[in-house]
Amino acid sequence: MSKVQRPVVIAGAGPVGMTAAADLVRQGIPVTVLEKSAALSAESRASTFHPPTLDLLDDLGFAKPLIAQGLKAPQVQYGSTVDGELGTFDFSAISDLTRHPYRLQAEQFKLTRIILEALKDNPLFDIRFNSEVASLAQDANGVAVTTGAGDTLQCDWLIGADGANSVVRRHQDIPFDGFTWAERFLVVTTSADIAAVRPGVTSVSYWADPQRWHFLLRIIGAWRVMLPVPAEMSDDAARAPEYARESLASVLPAGVAAPIEHITLYRVHQRVATRFREGRTFLAGDAAHINNPLGGMGMNGGLHDALNLTARLGRVIHGKDGEDTLDGYDRQRRAVTMEAIQTGTIRNKKNLEARTPEDREAFRSEIRKAVADREKTREFLRRISMIDSLQRAAAL
Ligand SMILES: Cc1cc2nc3c(=O)[nH]c(=O)nc-3n(C[C@H](O)[C@H](O)[C@H](O)COP(=O)(O)OP(=O)(O)OC[C@H]3O[C@@H](n4cnc5c(N)ncnc54)[C@H](O)[C@@H]3O)c2cc1C
Repeated sequence: MSKVQRPVVIAGAGPVGMTAAADLVRQGIPVTVLEKSAALSAESRASTFHPPTLDLLDDLGFAKPLIAQGLKAPQVQYGSTVDGELGTFDFSAISDLTRHPYRLQAEQFKLTRIILEALKDNPLFDIRFNSEVASLAQDANGVAVTTGAGDTLQCDWLIGADGANSVVRRHQDIPFDGFTWAERFLVVTTSADIAAVRPGVTSVSYWADPQRWHFLLRIIGAWRVMLPVPAEMSDDAARAPEYARESLASVLPAGVAAPIEHITLYRVHQRVATRFREGRTFLAGDAAHINNPLGGMGMNGGLHDALNLTARLGRVIHGKDGEDTLDGYDRQRRAVTMEAIQTGTIRNKKNLEARTPEDREAFRSEIRKAVADREKTREFLRRISMIDSLQRAAAL
């Protein structure tokens, strides 16, 4: 059994764990990241970086290389298959509030690779692949983290960034309150040029439909099309290429060839840990909260968690603040997770699936009013780009 002594150990080398590691290293703090897999994940998951997230990543030196590998989406569009386009918003309306007035469409694995490349030779950074956190024990002086291979690492602080099934969260018996939606979401990636066959569609485009909404998202060289899958359909049937083809055909003009690059089916939850801190252990990212992807807030919220927490840990470790500053992490991040991320993503889903004439009218009129008035446009963009939730957290 080997022992190391580190100020901070991070469970999980996803975007949240790697961003936390980078910010601690930037502050001169040694960090060990334990990752259960043999390498960084290459999975096609989140692909949206919001403007203030890019500002934060820019402070760490990661925005430029990420932007070089992504697609800038300066506009976001809302429509209804019944009523047509409802409104298109341009982030230039809030260019005084962010250095990056656009959403960046880049897969999350691009960020983790950029960070690993930047940190790999830094003596303050230690990453251990094939190292699954299996258990932990903590007292007033520190945390002992034991891996599946039987290694125990001693640290002052542990960040659980180990994803939705977090061992760190389960080990502390922290409830993950919330619910799972009955329907799953299907994401079909196609190389078809959707902008060419649906003129006027922008790179981020949400389409309400009382029967089956859809969401179009352009990434470099492809489009991702997201649609709900009825609860009664089996996973196998929903993943079948034939169903993906039918789903694509339902949102494209007849006869358009749409080669399928990738199919993902996933279960969608709205859950938040009842506390983000337990003594010397913290939860961040999906370990702390999960939500539906409409609005692209899951990973962004996780990155906001990571940087809120590492700023506090840095001050405590460098003796600039007492440990009670760490309570602010749970207070700020848990509150905005509930208020902005959970409420916002549930509202986005409800708007897209609105069935009654009253609900459809409420969505239509919200978008039309927001488009028609500059102040309302700015309010709307501040909310959907998560500028508001960051400012709200800072004020709590
Ligand atoms: C299929 C799918 C599609 C998604 N699509 C979108 C989307 O379109 N938009 C959006 O905003 N969000 C989406 N998400 C959510 C988004 O991917 C997450 O919010 C984001 O990955 C959170 O980052 P994270 O670092 O907290 O967790 P993760 O990315 O899950 O990273 C956790 C890391 O911890 C490692 N790990 C797990 N357990 C242990 C352990 N015990 N010990 C050590 N390491 C461990 C894992 O291997 C992984 O590398 C999607 C999620 C899924 C599953």
